[in-house]
Amino acid sequence: MSIVKSKIRTIPDYPKPGILFRDITSLLLDPEGLALTIGTFVNRYQGKGITKVAGIEARGFLTGAPLAFQLGVGFIPIRKKGKLPAETVAEEYDLEYGKDVIEIHKDAVQPGDRILVMDDLIATGGTMIAAVKLLRKLGAEVYEAGVIIDLPDLGGAKKLKDDLQVPIFSICEFEGH
Ligand code: AMP
Repeated sequence: MSIVKSKIRTIPDYPKPGILFRDITSLLLDPEGLALTIGTFVNRYQGKGITKVAGIEARGFLTGAPLAFQLGVGFIPIRKKGKLPAETVAEEYDLEYGKDVIEIHKDAVQPGDRILVMDDLIATGGTMIAAVKLLRKLGAEVYEAGVIIDLPDLGGAKKLKDDLQVPIFSICEFEGH
């Protein structure tokens, strides 16, 4: 949606040279932008039988938690390794240089849960794919992945659909990296 897209600020060369950082803080700071963003997700997901919303640390908390509240369901944080205090399951994934690990509380998911997984942006898809694998390890059905921004040239959305059969919804797209 072009209004949402117009409120996302682009910071060149952050966090390193050559990256165009799509900064959603400018969108969240704007009351109309915030309402349109969360409202778009609420309209799409209400009445779909979603039982929980999971959000990926940290910017997936900003989209996922208000959405869960509006849908009247619980919220599950998926966090970087070592941050969750109770028993967890983990999934490793590749970064551009090296690896990272995300975790979820084992008791956050019950059989029959139909879960929506949220982040701010999908690029190569590594983070979102790891999150879907975590939820599936615990027996959840992953209904869809929702993000504000897709970078289609990096192929993550296609990979999620082709490799894991998880549909992805994005409010807007940016060309390039
Ligand atoms: P990926 O695992 O490659 O799909 O990367 C997605 C994660 O990295 C998301 O949690 C994003 O917040 C972050 N990210 C990747 N590329 C960008 C970018 N160009 N601008 C802002 N955040 C990004």
